[in-house]
Amino acid sequence: MARARDPIADLRRIAFLLERANEATYRVRAFRSAAKALAGLPTAELTERAGNGTLTELAGVGDVTARCVAESLAGEEPVYLRRLVATEGSDLDAEATALRAALRGDCHTHSDWSDGGSPIEEMALAAVELGHEYLVLTDHSPRLTVARGLTAARLRQQLDHVAQVNAALPEGFRILTGIEVDILADGSLDQDDDLLARLDVVVGSVHSGLKDERSKMTRRMLKAVANPHLDILGHVTGRMVSSRPALVTGPGDRGHRARTRAESDFDADAVFAACAEHDTAVEINSRPERQDPPKRLIRRALEAGCRFAINTDAHAPGQLDWQRFGCERAALCGVPADRVVNTWSAERLVAWTHDRP
Ligand SMILES: [Zn+2]
Ligand SMILES: [Zn+2]
Repeated sequence: MARARDPIADLRRIAFLLERANEATYRVRAFRSAAKALAGLPTAELTERAGNGTLTELAGVGDVTARCVAESLAGEEPVYLRRLVATEGSDLDAEATALRAALRGDCHTHSDWSDGGSPIEEMALAAVELGHEYLVLTDHSPRLTVARGLTAARLRQQLDHVAQVNAALPEGFRILTGIEVDILADGSLDQDDDLLARLDVVVGSVHSGLKDERSKMTRRMLKAVANPHLDILGHVTGRMVSSRPALVTGPGDRGHRARTRAESDFDADAVFAACAEHDTAVEINSRPERQDPPKRLIRRALEAGCRFAINTDAHAPGQLDWQRFGCERAALCGVPADRVVNTWSAERLVAWTHDRP
């Protein structure tokens, strides 16, 4: 008799692969919901229900997910999973593959505390499975209300929660605390200084006034980059190159955003020179709809002597594997691994964020 597989693990794996492939939110949600609905069920009941066809009577379980469970329990790889695995594959060249292999963590990720679709635990487990040593949790700051940005009080709660989650995670992996803080119109950062000082990593991004005129945007970015709390400058130009949705699978789902957006206008050489001077890393954002900064600006940041962080900006577990897209673009621009801060260990990364000028 074939040995039974873990049907919950198979459902989660399918959801992960769908997210990674940028599939529609409702598809991913079907598998995550089913995994959640079945996780608490005793194995005997699961087996019995699979046998008599009553799995679909449970809320969150449909025909497709029930079939996957039945196949898993019979010891077979679900057909749905097999097809996904057969069509994944990596088209990366040697340089990009080497850069991806050198990354030890991700410095820009979201959970369902702001506009992500999954709990912190779920994001962390996916990062463990990818082989990461750390994941920096960077939920949004208060002014970004559309993304349910965290007030100072909620961020403090989150820090306590992260400490608890960390205690239960496997040895050798940890969640680092962080924030994606809004760079406000005057260049100041949208969170209390004492909290910013306490966080392991601070990513700062512009989310408003993206069409501001060049001198205003340059001043705003220069002020933020010079702020000693800011460690990484997020999605530098704010551009959107495709109308693919910002995929989110949860209550924070903002749906399809069928639009592209031009780069904001600023003096890139001045901003990158300031990043080099203040040792603020420039993010290479891996999201397929962002691909930010564009390659010509990655090259200029490299020439300016900047460090980089190759981040996913993941809003769901499967998106954590999008780092390869950022690596591909970084490799094309000749970014060496030793300029990328998330090739470092967690200890070295945190020492850097705390010691920066
Ligand atoms: Zn952002
Ligand atoms: Zn983000």
